[in-house]
Amino acid sequence: MPARAAASRRAEADAHREGGGIPVSDLMPPGGIGPGPMRASEGCAASSVPGDDPRAGWYRSPHLEPIFTPEELAQVHAYARPHYIWLAIRDVVSLLVFLGILRFGVRPMYRLADRAAGWINARAERMRRVPVVRALPAALDRLWGGAGWGAALLFSVLYLLLLELIYLPRDIYFTYFLEHAFGMSNDTPGEYAVDELKSLALQIVANSFLAFGMYGLMRRLKAWWLVLGVVAGSALLFSAMLDPWRGQIYFEQHSLPAGPLRERIDRLMAKAHIEYGDVVVEKTSRVSKSVNAYFAGQGPTRTIVLTDTLMENFTPDEIAAVVAHEAGHIHEPRTLRRILSAVGLLAFLFGVDRVLRLAARRQWFGASGFADIRTLPLIGLLLWAVITVGHPFSIADSRARERAADAWALELTRDPDAFRRMLVKATRINKFDPDPPKWVEVLGFNHPTIRERLDFVAAFAEKTRGE
Ligand SMILES: [Zn+2]
Repeated sequence: MPARAAASRRAEADAHREGGGIPVSDLMPPGGIGPGPMRASEGCAASSVPGDDPRAGWYRSPHLEPIFTPEELAQVHAYARPHYIWLAIRDVVSLLVFLGILRFGVRPMYRLADRAAGWINARAERMRRVPVVRALPAALDRLWGGAGWGAALLFSVLYLLLLELIYLPRDIYFTYFLEHAFGMSNDTPGEYAVDELKSLALQIVANSFLAFGMYGLMRRLKAWWLVLGVVAGSALLFSAMLDPWRGQIYFEQHSLPAGPLRERIDRLMAKAHIEYGDVVVEKTSRVSKSVNAYFAGQGPTRTIVLTDTLMENFTPDEIAAVVAHEAGHIHEPRTLRRILSAVGLLAFLFGVDRVLRLAARRQWFGASGFADIRTLPLIGLLLWAVITVGHPFSIADSRARERAADAWALELTRDPDAFRRMLVKATRINKFDPDPPKWVEVLGFNHPTIRERLDFVAAFAEKTRGE
């Protein structure tokens, strides 16, 4: 469903980073987080602690961990500010975009799609006499329950392209311009464009399947929403199993060679009772300097992915701390969440069914009956509304899971010192805002702030001292 254009490879790459090892901000580029204008000076207050450290004048965590010099902190804030501004306005912008498309875009897009489909059909007449070539449209006719799928598919592609076009300036600004301006990326415009086009192609394919499948079902079955809910739920499970391969669309990967680090990870995973297939290093330095790690897949296809930037900057015990954190996510209770998602999806699709029946009766956007493709952007709006209303709750849940993963990791490694160094290093490299304003944390952070995480590590160290 083309909910919103999130074409960037960064979004693609982050999408499968369940939980994200290090505070990957939902605000977009990992680490684009700073306290914004109103609290820019507060972070520096701690730096006036006199004389006990040769690096006095640094921004310190509450535990006097030197993290940023005042100059670096100012840079972190400047890097974060555009993200905060976008966070503040994005819901209004998205709503206006949806309403604008519904009001002004649907009818002309449909006319164009219909005409183009007719034109292609006429040109393809001769091709249809070739037996093999003929088979495909005939099969699609049967699946769709008649003609008209060509215009529907073209409409869904046009709709996706329009969204991409509208959000293109934002995507280029955040994932290319800003990253380069702050020295976080050094890929060329060509590489960037290739990644974006790959992402667009994948979206067009996925979107077409979804539009064809959903509207095809609607045309045939009264209880389409029930069937789609069950199928989509299973597809999500299946798609999680494809995770280990998804990263490879964008980045080169190679297995971590045998050696002390690999043995260490083996021991850690054995202690955690987690089975896995491989540890791979993903070459993300091509796109970004930021560090990350994630587990992809499940059971025997589970892969531990470490970015090459992580390998370059972190010591083995810091990498062990990252892996232990990710392992903490594996042990999260999932059953209730899965049941709730499945029920939520069914309720949503049922709601869509009701709204589309109303749209058909009232002939909104020129819809000529139920299951008219012209209602696709309306479904996009409904999906966006549900996600947006649920967002503060879902990221609060995410923060809770991150806290639990930190606690779990510390119990596993019993090495709070390495964990603390890992967090501080990640904060420096990814340019995380150590102390963002509260509203940003509540609306935009899917991880607790660094301040909170360091507090927690310090408390753990205190508790276990002398054990
Ligand atoms: Zn995590």
